[in-house]
Amino acid sequence: MLTTRPRGTSDILPGEVEKWQYLEQVIYRLCREYGYSEIRTPIFEHTELFERGVGETTDIVQKEMYTFLDRGGRSITLRPEGTAAVVRAYLENKLYAGLQPVKLYYTGPMFRYDRPQAGRYRQFTQFGVEVLGSHDPALDAEVITMAMDFYGRLGLKNLNLLINSVGCPRCRPVLREKLQDFFRARVDRLCSHCRGRLERNPLRILDCKEERCREAGKDAPTSLDYLCPDCEAHFQAVLKQLEKLGVAFTVNRSLVRGLDYYTNTAFEITVQGIGAQNSIGGGGRYNGLVKECGGPDIPGIGFALGLERVLLTMEQQGIVIPRPPKLDVFLAAADEAARDRALVLVQRLRQEGLAVDMDYLGRSLKSQMKYAGKLGVGLVVILGSDELERGVVTLRNMSAGSQREIPLDRLAGEVRQHGLKHVSGEGKYGN
Ligand SMILES: [Zn+2]
Ligand SMILES: [Zn+2]
Repeated sequence: MLTTRPRGTSDILPGEVEKWQYLEQVIYRLCREYGYSEIRTPIFEHTELFERGVGETTDIVQKEMYTFLDRGGRSITLRPEGTAAVVRAYLENKLYAGLQPVKLYYTGPMFRYDRPQAGRYRQFTQFGVEVLGSHDPALDAEVITMAMDFYGRLGLKNLNLLINSVGCPRCRPVLREKLQDFFRARVDRLCSHCRGRLERNPLRILDCKEERCREAGKDAPTSLDYLCPDCEAHFQAVLKQLEKLGVAFTVNRSLVRGLDYYTNTAFEITVQGIGAQNSIGGGGRYNGLVKECGGPDIPGIGFALGLERVLLTMEQQGIVIPRPPKLDVFLAAADEAARDRALVLVQRLRQEGLAVDMDYLGRSLKSQMKYAGKLGVGLVVILGSDELERGVVTLRNMSAGSQREIPLDRLAGEVRQHGLKHVSGEGKYGN
């Protein structure tokens, strides 16, 4: 147990972590360009928040949450998703009293007690955005475009954007009635869960993962058939904006949200995988959620996507992630006297903004060179006491196998020059 990590978690080691740093850089830049500010909420919250904000009857809350009593006897849950906590923070910090809309993004670990499988972990990482305070369809289009732009910047291909409108509390009662009529005639084909849902919330039958329920719900009435005029106009406006932005989409009537606080736009992004379409992200409007969490009646919209899944898809598509060189230069000491001066020189180069390292294991010059080669360093400074006496060092270009003497005071400039020439095209992540 001592040297085994818990099931469904992972160590991200050097060599792998650079991919995450790359994703994070793309995220920071994307969000800045779209006018979103980062929010960081706690990794755990009061359990009630997720029961309310994610929905007590959802699979996440019923089966997948990491919930425990803390030493004070309070029920605490490791966050299974980001939206509820962002809404909680929005309310607690009265962000609704400031400039609207509030455009936020987050990235960080989430926790679900799920059966671990490829691209699915018990601790996983999500990137998401939430916008609170506007019902403008242009914002729906922006949020969707932003998600697609993120995948596009990573070079992902074969994506499908599915979009639907799930209506609002005004048009939903009509749909609910139609669904009840439809499923009452097919009640014997439903799973026991869905039979219970039939009277309480027939919309959730459309969410059921059981094959028999999916089959039974194939030709069920859909929200699009019963949108009220406002919802219809909102939906058409979102689609029109997407068209103007050149974002391709498919209207998918079976994209549903089983909980009441989800309204209007629902979307999902799938990618053509091996033999199947896999979801790699999604989102939508939740105009009823802030109120559900005890706040004012404020509309919201967002998306969330799992970054492990994104990395896995990039790998499947053979996308190469650019990797900056680990070190600009390695400093090798040729003798004891030079070794004595190495650290000061290394430190001076670091102050110049260069990435530099040296040997700390008393290696011979030959094995220092071998070590630098294994680190993949393109440039090595060889420090000898005779040369230092004359105010020069030897600069060795590892890939060319050539070396020359340069004045010590020109060292930083020479290293930087070499970096500019060689940084492009070097060091890529393959598969
Ligand atoms: Zn409506
Ligand atoms: Zn069912």
